[in-house]
Amino acid sequence: MKRIVVLGGGESGVGAAVLAKKQGFEVFLSDLSEIKPEYKLLLDKYEIAREEKQHSEELILNADEVIKSPGIPDKAPLIKKLHAQRTPIISEIEFAGRYTKAKMICITGSNGKTTTTMLVYHILKNAGLNVGLAGNVGQSLALQVANDSFDYYVVELSSFQLDGMTEFKADIAILLNITPDHLDRYDYNFQNYVDSKFRITQNQKVEDAFIFWENDPVIKAELAKRNIQSTLYPFAIERSEKTKAFIENDELIFQSLKSLFTMPTKELALKGMHNTYNSMAAGLAASIVNVRKESIRQSLQDFQGVEHRLEYVATVKNVRFINDSKATNVNSCWYALQSMKTPVILILGGTDKGNDYSEIEELVIANVKGLIFMGLDNSPLHKFFDGKITNIIDVQSMEDAVKTAYKMANEGETVLLSPCCASFDLFKNYEDRGNQFKNCVRNL
Ligand code: ADP
Repeated sequence: MKRIVVLGGGESGVGAAVLAKKQGFEVFLSDLSEIKPEYKLLLDKYEIAREEKQHSEELILNADEVIKSPGIPDKAPLIKKLHAQRTPIISEIEFAGRYTKAKMICITGSNGKTTTTMLVYHILKNAGLNVGLAGNVGQSLALQVANDSFDYYVVELSSFQLDGMTEFKADIAILLNITPDHLDRYDYNFQNYVDSKFRITQNQKVEDAFIFWENDPVIKAELAKRNIQSTLYPFAIERSEKTKAFIENDELIFQSLKSLFTMPTKELALKGMHNTYNSMAAGLAASIVNVRKESIRQSLQDFQGVEHRLEYVATVKNVRFINDSKATNVNSCWYALQSMKTPVILILGGTDKGNDYSEIEELVIANVKGLIFMGLDNSPLHKFFDGKITNIIDVQSMEDAVKTAYKMANEGETVLLSPCCASFDLFKNYEDRGNQFKNCVRNL
């Protein structure tokens, strides 16, 4: 019997283990950290052998195939050993894809993945399609393939998940944008990261759709180099010859192969230019699977947005507070700043992944009245911003950040948490950071 070893006992690993067991494989799951109690229960239910807080090589190196959690880097010694002995290593999505015939709508990009994934799911679900939501959001694809029988899956894919995929094919692929991120995992070589993102188009044929931002310089350059077979659905603010979604006279126009329709941009639920892109991508995907125009329009209007992404929190004495805790890189902060309509007090900082702040320099100088650096090590921020902005204050906790920002702000201004950085120095994760922000604002 084929032996499958699953490395990582989180949502994707446990899902993969359950699916593998149901498919009749011998399964062993190993996690270097502690496995959450709810996942242990699930593993017990399916009688799946497991270990935690260690990787026993004698139980792992004998695998016929390994399903690796996207969080484990290729540089980990155990992964190096598996590579050296040529054991196939795949991702949970690749594995799950083997056991379903459902249509896959897959979303990747440096920013906007979760928002767009939720939006596509919202449109398809409202249209009455039998659709599952998977990837970085919600339940793992593998667990749903094991237990459900959806006709469509909307799947959010990170570059790490894409790295473990070779045979998988997206019926509809969305590539929102590519800007530098996670370079620590790609040998500080941007092209490696770009290649990883472009795996979203692998195995696609002319009957498959590739939706992408036409004016992204990186995507543009890459398309010129590659021979992509898919039918192309570019979107952009300004129409070119091939653009399938664009803006004209404040109307959003969709022109996919199957339908043509328009809606006023002011009716879009999601605000800001970046979100207009997300709405274009989602609307195109929905029209390709034949969701009716009226239904797409309605769903683009009534979508509720996603927590921690440019989320409005409250207005206190005429100062607005916006939680954009999920802005863990400089580009997403750029879009946040770009969509602000008042002067801003910006709270930023955290674990810096080698950020280049020059991308936001112009917007900061033009529109930011004060900067609050919130991190254990604020030196990279000082190095860049000192001398450019006079009002800079360092803090080490969210409570101080919010109180200081509130003091700095004048009536009519906005306090924006859009940190450009990961959160792990002071918080458990970006959700914790966003929730603490919201609590502190509510306690003002
Ligand atoms: P991801 O899942 O790719 O991290 P999210 O939807 O969680 O993306 O959004 C992450 C951050 O990026 C948020 O700060 C959000 O406001 C911003 N953002 C959303 N869509 C885009 C986009 N298309 N381009 C740039 N930034 C975006």
